[in-house]
Amino acid sequence: GQILWQQAVGRGQLVVVKGDITEERVDAIVNAANSQLAHGGGVAGAIVRKGGRIIQEESNRLAPVPVGGAVVTSAGALPCRWVIHAVGPIWGEGDEENKLRSAVRQALLRTEERQAQSVALPAISTGIFGYPKAAGCQVIAFECARFLQEATFVREIHLVAWDEETAHCFLQACQGLA
Ligand code: ADP
Repeated sequence: GQILWQQAVGRGQLVVVKGDITEERVDAIVNAANSQLAHGGGVAGAIVRKGGRIIQEESNRLAPVPVGGAVVTSAGALPCRWVIHAVGPIWGEGDEENKLRSAVRQALLRTEERQAQSVALPAISTGIFGYPKAAGCQVIAFECARFLQEATFVREIHLVAWDEETAHCFLQACQGLA
């Protein structure tokens, strides 16, 4: 994708990218999944269409995943090595901010456990799940920056926006990091 912004955080880099997450040149990409890991529409649909049904088959053996959790499958035909399926909250179900924080943190922990260096995340929960875009992007950017301060293996986190509004929100959030 197109790099919109990049800054050193801790011993790593936080990068905002405009593009399709399935094409990112990273070790792992994060999927905005539901608890059933039923990858139908949105970013999940794109990941399975391009990666192949092995991703859905492996997912079926790992479901259900609680809201705020994350699990790992292989990536099939995608250029990355792993897909991390993170389950964000549906807006309106309650305690959304803490659940979104947890989903991001769990996804990054799964990445670190694989000793991967680079990972790309979409704007989890802010599509079909209805989390307000600016607030959601702020939570995601903050948790990624925090993680980079303490990570051993993870050195590069890409925040990937598919649309203009998300790109704007990720940029605002990153520029607002202390
Ligand atoms: P959720 O159900 O968690 O809200 P969605 O997949 O509906 O997940 O949307 C999450 C975000 O991912 C939205 O901002 C959406 O525009 C974005 N998105 C959709 N397809 C892609 C893609 N191929 N690459 C990156 N982001 C994507």
